[in-house]
Amino acid sequence: MTKRRITRKIKVGNAFIGGDAPVLVQTMVATKTRDVDATVAAIDALAEAGAGLIRVAVDSKDDAAALAEIRKRTTANLSVDLQENYRLAELVAPSVDKIRYNPGHLHHLEPSVPWERKVDYLVDVARRFDVALRVGVNCGSLDPAKRSERDPNDASICDPLLASALEHVDYLDSIGFARFCVSIKDSDPATVVMANARFAELRPDVPLHLGVTEAGAPPRGVEKSRMALETLLAKGIGETLRVSLTVEASEKRAEIDAANLILANVASGKTIGLDYRLPALNIVSCPSCSRVQNGRFVELARAIEKATEFARDYPFKIATMGCRVNGPGETDDADVGLWCGPDRVNLKSGSTTIGAFSYEEVVDKAVELLRQKIKEYDSSKNPS
Ligand code: SF4
Repeated sequence: MTKRRITRKIKVGNAFIGGDAPVLVQTMVATKTRDVDATVAAIDALAEAGAGLIRVAVDSKDDAAALAEIRKRTTANLSVDLQENYRLAELVAPSVDKIRYNPGHLHHLEPSVPWERKVDYLVDVARRFDVALRVGVNCGSLDPAKRSERDPNDASICDPLLASALEHVDYLDSIGFARFCVSIKDSDPATVVMANARFAELRPDVPLHLGVTEAGAPPRGVEKSRMALETLLAKGIGETLRVSLTVEASEKRAEIDAANLILANVASGKTIGLDYRLPALNIVSCPSCSRVQNGRFVELARAIEKATEFARDYPFKIATMGCRVNGPGETDDADVGLWCGPDRVNLKSGSTTIGAFSYEEVVDKAVELLRQKIKEYDSSKNPS
């Protein structure tokens, strides 16, 4: 293994990311944030299992109030992802150690306000409440300005992901804020490796949070994460990581076990690398969190994986997402996309919505759509 690079070191609660600190393992609770007892119990169990930073979902003032109560009852390091409402920062900052903002989500609220003013606000909050930031760039919610600059001849999303991250890092530099790390996530392990390796080359000083987004359920979700994260860590890149897995709220420890497996493999040189062969059929699903709109999401994601196994040699993408926050955007590039509402599941083909179906009928509908795609694909390969 190459010697780890030495980035700047940032303080996150009672832990550090970067510098000479060990790689920090992160995870997220999937309990309802307003269920304070269950959330504190889940946080403490994950901290006990080795998570150095645990994310909690906050979408409303009620969630923020619950988070304040959670903060009083646990000593674990906590973080929050702002999603589309950057103004929540001020409400959550007193209760957390790190806040993640997504450059691609900043335009949602107050679209006429330039993103730089929004980042000014976030930095001011971070300074006032003594918290670190993460600039979290994600393939499914890329800044629309960067998406529109994308070279149509380049199938990879690597360049726009990288450009978005670098733009924000440059801006944070320009206003003298250094207490942040960066993540550049995609559901494709090769893109994660390419984007992060290039970022590390251009900005060797900035700590990187590694992860494969929507990696899916184990074992495939673990394999995809291993391919990307082991490759990067073996190059000495990566100061903190999260393995996102589609598992029930009670099974989140699996993310820490997978992270520990990755770190042990890198230490012993037993990495699987990018040459590892995954089936041609790319199945992605979100890890689920407290925003999941129906408790049957994980069961649905597993049912979809099982019901589409017959198509494993076809180069299609199937995406199953748990809620409306990331569901509509992150299914746009899937051949078969599903995102969950409270009672019905929206089925899509690319950006076209096919319909909304009950949880009972949607698996058959998705399989029907997939069979149709296979038929089209086969006849394009063997025109009669
Ligand atoms: S898509 Fe999944 S992980 Fe993302 S916010 Fe929704 S439920 Fe949570």
